[in-house]
Amino acid sequence: MIELYEIYKVYKMGNEDVYALNNVTLKILKNEFVAILGPSGSGKSTLMNIIGCLDTPTSGTYLLEGKEVNKLSDNQLAEIRNSKIGFIFQQFNLIPQLTALENVELPLIYKGVKKSERHKLAKEALEKVGLSNRLNHRPKQLSGGQQQRVAIARALVTNPSVILADEPTGNLDSKSGSEIMQIFEQLYNQGCTIVLITHDISIASYAKRIIKIHDGKIVEDYKIA
Ligand code: ATP
Ligand code: MG
Repeated sequence: MIELYEIYKVYKMGNEDVYALNNVTLKILKNEFVAILGPSGSGKSTLMNIIGCLDTPTSGTYLLEGKEVNKLSDNQLAEIRNSKIGFIFQQFNLIPQLTALENVELPLIYKGVKKSERHKLAKEALEKVGLSNRLNHRPKQLSGGQQQRVAIARALVTNPSVILADEPTGNLDSKSGSEIMQIFEQLYNQGCTIVLITHDISIASYAKRIIKIHDGKIVEDYKIA
């Protein structure tokens, strides 16, 4: 469902070309749990941004569910970002003034879902991440791990085709980090497709397939039994 063919992302810095992605070809199927593992500067976030339709490659072809992404209009791209992709970032990116429930409802407001339905779906998503008892807390009143769980619920609530998580445990202590990884494992077992980005092999080991990236190139791609 995610197909990348000969993807390049090249930045011009003065008279030097920086190859953030250098000929990446990659297929990720439905209900895979993949970790993209690489050191700082290897191109992980660049790759995630392209997969998430937040950025476009310099050249190459990207097919999402069989549709060529570079041929879509801005409206179609926005629609994909809002309903097909769930984003999770290192800094949870929650809205501080809104409660957990309201944060999770946001993507549904963008989709035009009516209020009673929004409430129900947001509650269910928060239940999935074990936060039924924190619906009316604001981000500041939650621990880091709880805030990230709200962010996961927000990513889940639209029932996206793929969940993209860029260093989701980067701001967490190791205990909260492994709790977050256990949630990803559960979501995978419930049929979600997950692409996790990390520089940390112990975090990557929760995935079922590890793709190693170095200097913008895939250097290893293997399954974990
Ligand atoms: P980290 O683990 O530190 O987040 P990363 O693997 O996510 O690193 P990227 O952010 O994808 O790395 O960056 C890949 C390379 O592309 C780096 O060398 C970076 O300096 C370069 N790069 C990224 N964005 C730009 C930009 N807007 N302009 C120029 N160079 C860029
Ligand atoms: Mg990064």
